Amino acid sequence: MLIDDPAIDPILEQYNDQLLALILSANNGELTRSQFRNQLDVLVTTFLTLAFLTAGGDIGNRSELDQLIEGHTEGVNRLTRDVYAGTYQGEENEDRLQSRVNTWVIAIAGAYAVGQEANTRQDERLVWRLGVADHCSTCLALDGVVLTRAEWESSGYRPQGRNLECGGYNCKCSRLLTDSESIGLENLPV
Ligand SMILES: [Zn+2]
Repeated sequence: MLIDDPAIDPILEQYNDQLLALILSANNGELTRSQFRNQLDVLVTTFLTLAFLTAGGDIGNRSELDQLIEGHTEGVNRLTRDVYAGTYQGEENEDRLQSRVNTWVIAIAGAYAVGQEANTRQDERLVWRLGVADHCSTCLALDGVVLTRAEWESSGYRPQGRNLECGGYNCKCSRLLTDSESIGLENLPV
């Protein structure tokens, strides 16, 4: 459902459910603050890695994965602080909690996109496909564009990327394998 790629969507759903369950446990007083923080840290690291590997990411080419993992420390601390400030207590805050969790799920989809480029089969082509979301001008321009994995990496553009006009925080775009020829980096419309 989420980015409409059957390889990663079940993992994204599982992450969504586990993250929500963890926050609800904290809200119910079942975890100390440091237990919550540690479990959140493990959950994020596990799913970032899982998404990377599910995309065929080569663990020998994991520097970008490591950056994503390190970059999450601040987010883990912030979410811990907010949860223990009672921000997501009660039914009246359910929608706010779900939208916060959604941005975390998108970050896992981003690790999948990183893994697609760290795949050893660099000549394979991937086509950009718009997801079900509001689209920024970058994603609209990239819709249907075919490049090799290596060219996508050189382009600097990937789904959920921070350099998309929208910042990627709600990007549900994906890239799928295709037999079509690459349009070539010089023809990139952005
Ligand atoms: Zn997008």
